[in-house]
Amino acid sequence: VLRFEVGDVPVAAVAEIEWPIPAALFVPDMTPEAIAADAAWLVPRYVDPEGNIRIAIQALCVEADGRRIVVDTCMGNGKRRGGLLERFAGLQTDLLDRLTALGFGPGEVDTVVCTHLHVDHVGWNTRLEAGRWVPTFPRARYVVSARDLEHWSASADPMHAPAFADSVQPVVDAGLVDAVDPGHDISPSVSLIATPGHTPGHVSVRIASSGEVAYVTGDLVHTPAQLTHPEWSSVADGDPVLAQENRRSFGDRVIAEGALVIGTHFPAPTAGRLVRDPAVRWID
Ligand SMILES: [Zn+2]
Repeated sequence: VLRFEVGDVPVAAVAEIEWPIPAALFVPDMTPEAIAADAAWLVPRYVDPEGNIRIAIQALCVEADGRRIVVDTCMGNGKRRGGLLERFAGLQTDLLDRLTALGFGPGEVDTVVCTHLHVDHVGWNTRLEAGRWVPTFPRARYVVSARDLEHWSASADPMHAPAFADSVQPVVDAGLVDAVDPGHDISPSVSLIATPGHTPGHVSVRIASSGEVAYVTGDLVHTPAQLTHPEWSSVADGDPVLAQENRRSFGDRVIAEGALVIGTHFPAPTAGRLVRDPAVRWID
């Protein structure tokens, strides 16, 4: 568990599992030559010596304004997954026990935010009980973007539709979902900003407290190399041009605000800052 302080708001990153993905398969511009040019800071922290992007799958726990907020719920246990997701089929991790030990257990979390509705961001929305998928956090409001909910509820995408069925539809059916527009305030310190491109309604989470600002990226980026090279889209970006535009404006914004960037998929140390000196650089 990694911990950060944003003003008066503690944030903890709780990792579920790591997913190494061959860099150029996932981000075609991340060729061996491109990685070599940035190897001093990329390897082995963010790209392993075999050339895989190190994708951490983790939940961010935010305690703000008396609220216990979980941002993104990873893959989940016991899900049926196939194809490229075979390695996550029937997963059994102790993520929920570790969340509970931090005070973010099923009875304590009052807000779950899904930055988007992809399979690795919704898994622990539900858990299996007597053969049925039931909400893991029955006292929580599950906050999702209305645009993404509309998009993924009508999608037959073989990678993400099964996750919608077992990890999103049950919380919708339980009446726990708030479908919101970007700009939605979760609490006085925590709000959502629109960062579409990866998915149509993708949001990132802004935390502002006592003069400090941080952002939880969601999948606006999968590696900090996409912040120093915002033109590098992943094959998972539904609209790569829009994703690039949003990475650029996000970079300008976090530099201007001096904000901490907490990368949803960045392995430890997970958070850092962008600086311009004169080229844009990432500092852990
Ligand atoms: Zn993801």
